[in-house]
Amino acid sequence: MNTPFIMTAGPTYIHESVRRIMSEELTNPDIDVMFYEFYKNICEKIKKVMKTENEILILAGEGILGLEAACASLTEENDRVLCIDNGIFGHGFADFVKLYGGNPVFFKSDYDRGINIENLKNFLENDSDFKYATVVHCETPSGITNDVSKICPLLKQYEILTVVDSVSAIGGENLCTDEWKMDIVLGGSQKCISAPVGLTFLSISEEAFKIIYNRKSQIKSFYCNLAAFKDWYNKKWFPYTMPIHLIYAFDKALDRVLLTNYVKKHSKIADTVRKSIVEAGLLLYPKDSLSNTVTALNIPEGIEFEYIYKKMIENYNIMVGSSFDFLKDKVIRIGHMGENCSIDKIFLTLYGLDKIFESANIKLKTNMHKVFSNLI
Ligand SMILES: *Cc1c(COP(=O)(O)O)cnc(C)c1O
Repeated sequence: MNTPFIMTAGPTYIHESVRRIMSEELTNPDIDVMFYEFYKNICEKIKKVMKTENEILILAGEGILGLEAACASLTEENDRVLCIDNGIFGHGFADFVKLYGGNPVFFKSDYDRGINIENLKNFLENDSDFKYATVVHCETPSGITNDVSKICPLLKQYEILTVVDSVSAIGGENLCTDEWKMDIVLGGSQKCISAPVGLTFLSISEEAFKIIYNRKSQIKSFYCNLAAFKDWYNKKWFPYTMPIHLIYAFDKALDRVLLTNYVKKHSKIADTVRKSIVEAGLLLYPKDSLSNTVTALNIPEGIEFEYIYKKMIENYNIMVGSSFDFLKDKVIRIGHMGENCSIDKIFLTLYGLDKIFESANIKLKTNMHKVFSNLI
């Protein structure tokens, strides 16, 4: 199979040592007490990446399950929930809030910039009666990383619990869960950790657990019920059979993350990718708050995304994505996260893009791949 290099904004390339685990013979995770030790141990590794002492849970489901589980477990009928919205994922959180009976209230901020903290302060001065707030750390579709180091402590000043979608940021951006007073932070296995798709993990503060355990009404879900995991270690029991192969692969991928200075690596490559794009005369989509893990650049006039996609596959066997919703076919996204945050792969991607722009008579001021190799 001629699998392309997936330079997309997740899922990312999975290292061979991680993939190999998927073919190993492993134990029965329900019965073998070893597995509970293993799960506990991997939670300790996740704590390191998230810089937290809060409890960690790994659930069997893709990143979206983490968003839904947080909302399902916290929301009761008519709860007011603040949805901080400067992008597609930020907006989408409100759907989960509504689904579980809550009343989402939006705080809107420009879609091509990071959340405006001053405006958020003013908003909260007038209205801060919210049970919790949802925030997206990195808006993957637009390549914007919000400054959660300011947003979350600000919300806590108003005694608002925070739920943070850090799916495309954990392992690529700085994240200080405890210092920044974040209550629920969630990630996915397939972005910067570069493990197979299929797991979500959450850090949950004591305060959040207190609210979850002391609800007036039942949580309206089984699979999204975070309370169902209560005391799993002492009971040696999970609410359902854990996908042991995925969890072992995830553990191996986490080891690879922890071996590197991943924040520094991501920020250096991201910065150099952006410089290469800008020096070539192309435009980045975001005006500020540029992500360490994904770069979105505007597609210039005279070329279509479909052509770029097709040529990149045909000529270089590299897959790049556009985005979706209002950014569909408007931007190219280069995912430089996890295993794809690599000099070789980014060089090849920029080389391919340079050649394809050239073939379509799009005049660039300079070659992106040359700038990249000079600066990196
Ligand atoms: C990837 C991602 C998710 C998980 O969603 P999928 O697109 O289904 O993988 C959630 N939030 C953000 C910000 C993401 O980038």
